[in-house]
Amino acid sequence: MKVGVLALQGNYEMHCKVLEKINIEPVYIKYPYELDMVRGLIIPGGESTTMSKLMNRIDLYDGILSFAKKYPVLGTCAGLILMSNKVVDSNLTPLRLLDINIKRNGYGRQINSGTVNVELKLEDTDYSIPASFIRAPKIVDYNNVKVIAQYEDVPVIVSNGKHLGISFHPELDNITILHEYVFLNGDK
Ligand code: GLN
Repeated sequence: MKVGVLALQGNYEMHCKVLEKINIEPVYIKYPYELDMVRGLIIPGGESTTMSKLMNRIDLYDGILSFAKKYPVLGTCAGLILMSNKVVDSNLTPLRLLDINIKRNGYGRQINSGTVNVELKLEDTDYSIPASFIRAPKIVDYNNVKVIAQYEDVPVIVSNGKHLGISFHPELDNITILHEYVFLNGDK
């Protein structure tokens, strides 16, 4: 099993380590044709506006959109921004893979960068995991998604049954359960 990690910019290397831990072979994705080799995709954290520009430049939008009809996509932080329906405070073009609206850096000073604990349930098992927020996006509105975890009454992990979006960085805390959930368990 091979999963792609979008490697245009940002924090993609730690995602590869998480994939290796769960016996998935990571493949760096820098061009659209490379998507043919993989059965899932991670859009990592970084700077969403820069990532969006680079995606446009190499014509990756259409490639990801048709890929996402068949295979799961997991986005963390800037990746969540790119997967959203609408970014309320920026004119970047999102992929609209998840029916959520996003405010970039929406946690302001409060948890600009910091780790909290969040509770979640996956496949009937309860977990409490560290959640590291780094200039994290806030989900300000949502529809047609399942809220997997929230922090202070705001969703921080959402799924539409195929794709998963996370406002924080599980890869920095060696959390493997979310990658496992998306890529090893099939459609929910
Ligand atoms: N603040 C960044 C953005 O708006 C996201 C931060 C991150 O991915 N850690 O793109």
